[in-house]
Amino acid sequence: MASEEKGPKMKNEVIIKGHRQNNICNIRLYFKRYITARQLIASRFRGLLMLNKTRMLVIAVSMMFSLSAPAFVELHSHAFMNEGMGAIFRGDFNHKLCAHSWRCMLSSKINAETLAKSGVRIFVAALYAHPALVLRPGLSWRESVKESLRRQIRQAYDYVAQHPEWILAKNARQAQRAYAQGKKIFLLSLEGAHGMFESPQDFVEFIDEAGIAIVTPIHLINNSCGGAAYMRGLRKSIFTLKNFYFEWKNGARMNPMGLTPEGKDLILRLMARGVWIDLTHMSDRSIDDALPLLLAYGQPLLFTHTALRKYYKDERGISPRHLDWIRQNRGYVGLVPSEEMLVNTKVDNEFCPANCRPCRGGVEALAQHYYEIGTQIGFTRVAFGSDFSGGISHLRPARCTTQTSLDRVGLISIDQMADLQLSLEKRLQKTLSQDGMANEFLAQWELAQNRSGE
Ligand SMILES: [Zn+2]
Repeated sequence: MASEEKGPKMKNEVIIKGHRQNNICNIRLYFKRYITARQLIASRFRGLLMLNKTRMLVIAVSMMFSLSAPAFVELHSHAFMNEGMGAIFRGDFNHKLCAHSWRCMLSSKINAETLAKSGVRIFVAALYAHPALVLRPGLSWRESVKESLRRQIRQAYDYVAQHPEWILAKNARQAQRAYAQGKKIFLLSLEGAHGMFESPQDFVEFIDEAGIAIVTPIHLINNSCGGAAYMRGLRKSIFTLKNFYFEWKNGARMNPMGLTPEGKDLILRLMARGVWIDLTHMSDRSIDDALPLLLAYGQPLLFTHTALRKYYKDERGISPRHLDWIRQNRGYVGLVPSEEMLVNTKVDNEFCPANCRPCRGGVEALAQHYYEIGTQIGFTRVAFGSDFSGGISHLRPARCTTQTSLDRVGLISIDQMADLQLSLEKRLQKTLSQDGMANEFLAQWELAQNRSGE
């Protein structure tokens, strides 16, 4: 069956074959092509000379890892951000990566090639469109956002159609069957629901037909659904004006706004269609307003990309109370491997080699969060929500050797997932069950959809 037939029916279909060429990053690529043949041959020759025992060993080890077929769960990355952030973002899913450093925020850190290499078997592609950056002449901001999302959805369907090892799963049972057959699972999520669901047709188009499985109703700013979690940092404060209004509670800055009646109504309608509600970015008050609704539907609490508030110190980090709720009931947490989210983490000596003390940031801080969350709610309920291409930096180069690429360059892109996992396991001195995480995620997704069925 042709791939297009499987995809959603697009309203006002304006999909362009091939994608908008990207500015600075692609200019660099074109420039590279003009390097003379002589330079290329010389550099290849030098490379061959360097093929000494160490390199052979590295190649052998990496081959061993690729044969062991890891099954990572990635809960939140922006594969198609060039469509969501327009001209300020460099790179796209079908071209080479643009990010060259862990510090890069607005360059691509994920593309088709690196996703294939990553070992990720459950991938949640977060769809996002910034209303001002995707504004199109003659269209309202709401229509412009929808148009951007249609393009991102089409790219997802195109990718899956061209790569039969993937299935774009619209429901958990379909995903569980495919996973058991060795397939990779591609899910769609939507970050920020403001202005998206104006009419019943929007639910049909984006949920039923396109198959958006997870919705994060509130994003960086208070919207018609409710209050957003307070985030630290000057950049975020300027970007998200809501940050000027907060109250102090238990040492953290909190947004006093909860869910609006419109937000509650939207959550109910989404759950009725089988959507799993992501509580990331919600203020505590919004989460508490959402809880009775989720409980009535039997939905586990989902936080796709977060870190411990205990260290992060602002509302954007997950609270001890909500973690405890997950421990007693059920839920799933994606941890963000980013210095921005791991700020202020006090690393126990257990995770910090003696010659590196005191440890600050990096994989040691990540291990601290992972250990504390895993111990509290169970290690199969924590995966990564890396937010690659999501406008944030990632892990700086490791100060203490992990014998992975993280030592040299830090965490830049999704194809380093195996290295990230390996270095984390080294610091934790514990093997993490990838299959356990994947199966737990799929089981919880099934629970979240129980009321609506297939
Ligand atoms: Zn986010």
